[in-house]
Amino acid sequence: MNKIQKDLLIIGAGPAGLGAALYAKRGGLDFSIVEKYMAGGQITNTEFIENYLGFKEEVSGFDLTKSFIDHCNVLGVNIDDYTDIGSIEPEKEKNLFKCKVLDSEDLYIVKSIIIATGASPKKLHVKGEKEKIGSGISFCATCDGALYKDKEVAVVGGGDTAVEEALFLTKFAKKVYIIHRRDELRAVEILQNRAFNNDKIEILWDSVIKEFIGDEKLEKISIKNLKDGKKYTKNIDGVFEYVGYKPNSDIVKDWINIDDNGFVITDEYMRTSLEGIYAVGDVRATPLRQVITAVSDGAIAATALDKHLRGLL
Ligand code: NAP
Repeated sequence: MNKIQKDLLIIGAGPAGLGAALYAKRGGLDFSIVEKYMAGGQITNTEFIENYLGFKEEVSGFDLTKSFIDHCNVLGVNIDDYTDIGSIEPEKEKNLFKCKVLDSEDLYIVKSIIIATGASPKKLHVKGEKEKIGSGISFCATCDGALYKDKEVAVVGGGDTAVEEALFLTKFAKKVYIIHRRDELRAVEILQNRAFNNDKIEILWDSVIKEFIGDEKLEKISIKNLKDGKKYTKNIDGVFEYVGYKPNSDIVKDWINIDDNGFVITDEYMRTSLEGIYAVGDVRATPLRQVITAVSDGAIAATALDKHLRGLL
């Protein structure tokens, strides 16, 4: 067993984890940052970001991520990519946490942890979906909606998010289809009424997408009506999937407070219900999940943690 002792382990290198790393480094903390996949998180799946302060031209999720990583690297932060923390074992009497790396002999023994593991949009898992994510399929209307000015888009789902985002998309698109698997929406009545009264929105009831079609970019979708069993294809420029989010909180959910949807509950310093554990970004119960708020969460957590380790907070 290779024991690695640190003051802090940051789990996840999306915007929240990288924001925490920047502030932890500048604060002189002894820490490691690990990432299950490649550093960057969900924004690497976003074609263009137009709402990150300071970037008035469109910037791709990939390029924005690269600038975050470069900034951290210049300060001497090394991100351990493809390092998956499989379990965390709190040792309350010693105020330590043992974090076991999956498929490895590495064991982190740390005084504190920043959970920056993000959330994963639930996917439809139908044919062609994987290939079109980032090329016509999006999970973020705030990020990508403006790219569909005067185009035809579809939103999948019937919950609050789907209806709210469909309404938002009408600011850009000339037509927004809501594709919902049942004959009534799950969304609250006020949102339903707004959708019903919006001329640009058409709801395809009892319908599911069976396939995403197109050479490089998305061109068509195959739709099945679940009531009469009929299948047809529809030309479409973009599809936004809103069939729920799953916070990546599995490694901590048994021993820290989470909300009904599995998001980790924190206070304003990003402290969870267990001393020494902080949560930032999309895994956290928060009213806004954007790159700018994730980076800010990371900065708050690392600063608060620095004070905590020095006995000041
Ligand atoms: P949600 O409430 O879980 O709704 C997900 C929607 O996707 C449902 O309509 C569901 O259909 C549909 N769906 C799920 N799996 C599907 C599949 N495989 N294929 C096709 N459709 C599928 O998720 P959400 O809308 O993201 O909301 C999450 C929580 O945040 C909710 O508690 C919501 O109230 C809250 N929220 C609140 C606001 C607000 O207050 N303004 C805004 C956004 C979200 P069924 O209806 O048939 O199950």
